[in-house]
Amino acid sequence: MLEVKGICSGYGHVQIIWDASFVVNDGEVVAILGSNGAGKTTLVRTITGMIRPWSGSVVFNGDELAGKNSRNILDHGIVQVPEGRQLFTEMSVYENLEMGAYSKETKAKLGESLEFVYKWFPKLRERKNQAAGTLSGGEQQMVAVGRALIGLPRLLILDEPSLGLAPNIVDDILSVAHSMAKEQGISVILVEQDITKALRVADRGYVVENGKITLEGTSEELESNEHVKKAYLGI
Ligand code: ATP
Repeated sequence: MLEVKGICSGYGHVQIIWDASFVVNDGEVVAILGSNGAGKTTLVRTITGMIRPWSGSVVFNGDELAGKNSRNILDHGIVQVPEGRQLFTEMSVYENLEMGAYSKETKAKLGESLEFVYKWFPKLRERKNQAAGTLSGGEQQMVAVGRALIGLPRLLILDEPSLGLAPNIVDDILSVAHSMAKEQGISVILVEQDITKALRVADRGYVVENGKITLEGTSEELESNEHVKKAYLGI
């Protein structure tokens, strides 16, 4: 279980995240929602140690992670699929997936993990020797998610997986994320601008506005919330 309390962070002297608190239970899909520039990416980068929190705590399965470096946080099983995928485009699909095995444990389980990834994304087995940069956007997102799964996450963070993808591909990626949580017990944080799609697979969600969490609730509660409807769903 992840428990984030009173996180403040930013870049240089500019504060972006203000007193953010949220919880992700085991096997839960939690959506972090908000518009462009609201601070969603900054918030999750603070959880994964890419940005140091200025204050607050990040407790994961009883361990305090605030202030720890990203490698250490990765070792605790928090693995992020970054916005924009960030693949090594010249390298093959297989080589990109292999990069997800960073620790002794994940390296030892690489063969088994690859089979797991190919089971969820059969296309990647067919394309394993192809340069990642020559794949379609959807296939590249599958590689990015696959690479994260090779890292044996206990908490998987997906940052805007829908960006630039066709709606049916987004549905596929989100349904894999949902299955990871419900069948494999991996907790998932889903950062999304596409609120309708995110709430379809999430158990609960938090809305970020100007770096603050302004609303929280179950997917049903958020979907029927008047502010969410007006500001984000155009209803
Ligand atoms: P998007 O959906 O567009 O990715 P977001 O909600 O994830 O938006 P962030 O990327 O966290 O928002 O950005 C929040 C604010 O932080 C923005 O005003 C942005 O300009 C600023 N910001 C982001 N990255 C940096 C950086 N490396 N240095 C300085 N400011 C940054």
